Amino acid sequence: MATTALPDQLSDEARDFISRDHGLLINGEWVPAADGATFDTVDPSNGQTIAEIAQGGAEDVDRAVKAARAAFADDSPWRTMTAPDRARLLVKLAELLEGSADQLAQIESLDNGKPVTLARVVDVNAAIGHLIEFSGWPTRIPGETHPDAVANTFGYTRREPVGVCGQIVPWNFPLLMAVWKIAPALAAGCTVVLKPAEQTPLTALRLGELALEAGIPPGVLNVVTGDGSTGQALVRHEDVNKIAFTGSTAVGREIGEVAGKALKRVTLELGGKSPNIVLPDADIEAAVTGAFSGIYFNSGQVCTAASRLMVQKDQFDDVVNALAAQAEATMPGPGLAPTTFVGPLVSAEQHERVSSYIEKGRDEAELVAGGGTSIESHPDGYFVKPTLFTSTDDNASIVREEIFGPVLVAQPYDSIEDVARRANEGSYGLAAGVWTKDLRNAHKLAGLLRAGSIYVNSWGTVSSSMPFGGFKASGVGREHGTAGIGAYLEEKSVFINMA
Ligand code: NAD
Ligand code: MG
Repeated sequence: MATTALPDQLSDEARDFISRDHGLLINGEWVPAADGATFDTVDPSNGQTIAEIAQGGAEDVDRAVKAARAAFADDSPWRTMTAPDRARLLVKLAELLEGSADQLAQIESLDNGKPVTLARVVDVNAAIGHLIEFSGWPTRIPGETHPDAVANTFGYTRREPVGVCGQIVPWNFPLLMAVWKIAPALAAGCTVVLKPAEQTPLTALRLGELALEAGIPPGVLNVVTGDGSTGQALVRHEDVNKIAFTGSTAVGREIGEVAGKALKRVTLELGGKSPNIVLPDADIEAAVTGAFSGIYFNSGQVCTAASRLMVQKDQFDDVVNALAAQAEATMPGPGLAPTTFVGPLVSAEQHERVSSYIEKGRDEAELVAGGGTSIESHPDGYFVKPTLFTSTDDNASIVREEIFGPVLVAQPYDSIEDVARRANEGSYGLAAGVWTKDLRNAHKLAGLLRAGSIYVNSWGTVSSSMPFGGFKASGVGREHGTAGIGAYLEEKSVFINMA
């Protein structure tokens, strides 16, 4: 493995973890891939390999699913555990994450490229909060009683864990996405095979280690690293009861097709192209600040990124000029540098993808800020400068398609009816935002916009207790809250003949 020296900023704890051998977590043991295959994960600020990771194949997936199935047996420690004890394990895991928070943030920052402060405050803290939220569920999964549903029959319902869950997560918030998946599954009493993204496998491996340390029984949480083919083997495995996936719409469609045919339970959290609408009565300064962080936060690699800005034509130039000035003043840098706000993109592939959208944008729209796809200080890193286009063409590809990078397109509109109609025209429906001081307009647009999350005078708010997911091509099902736990439960009706 051709690794370079790891950056000086890393703590000993982070360095030790990154430099060790990384196997697959199957049935509580760390094992190499059956065929010995590995892949490299890189530091996106310079393209250098930082660790060698086991590349799980179909045989490894099968071993992991068998372990998860055995851990789900009726007489297993997990299935016979009381609900309060299951809750306690989730709390314990949250505490262990808290104890390793700085280490996890550094590992995430190096592996993904994101600013370390963002990793600490957003990824790690939110992951801890999510585990705490879902630790409240095991003891609160009641059924219904129907004493008189049928003559002489007492009816009641039981809500039982779905079974073995295959969970496939992306690289944009690696630890957080893993915890968004495992917390409800474990709270419901399911067992899991988790497949992290190949670009950012490290924090999921550390999460698996902490889960064992917390006392979660072997086989309940298995972690199989690898690429799309590993994910595919998991989706196709006959003994997986449910697939939960976050990632691209293209892969989501493929998974939906396979799961549909096999009649597996499936939840899909997919892409977006989210309209951020500034009404004429808005606090324009706040709207500019919100629009800026809404798109450039996490280098725009956010499924709910505020990637399409819509401003009433009378304010359009003022808003665009203010954003352009901020974008030009923001210089990307490596995630571990303490002042970085915009880190590199996660991979060479994403860099290529986003760069090609910028090229397209130069043809079909007007470039007003950024456009650069490298920085002098780190010529081999996957950097893209905060970029802003304007366009009046709703059919332009940069207006319709998810770019997943620090690229914003701003469009003028005439009236509130006009903007709502245009905002709803795309194929996605993950998020939408409205900036206004008029409550009537806020509520009106909250009703009109076809998206799973609506932000009023903010962008990107997430709550572990409120549903998260998409309309249309942005997904199927919801994570978080009541719907989120429900996605890991089967309902059973029991009829007791009282005659
Ligand atoms: P992807 O959908 O290919 O990968 C996401 C996860 O799915 C990874 O763990 C990957 O290994 C796995 N995977 C890939 N192919 C699979 C298959 N056929 N069956 C099962 N699992 C499979 O996403 P990507 O290629 O990393 O990124 C491409 C685009 O996807 C991005 O540019 C962005 O537009 C979008 N994306 C969206 C999100 C989101 O949060 N909604 C996250 C990441 C990427
Ligand atoms: Mg990496």
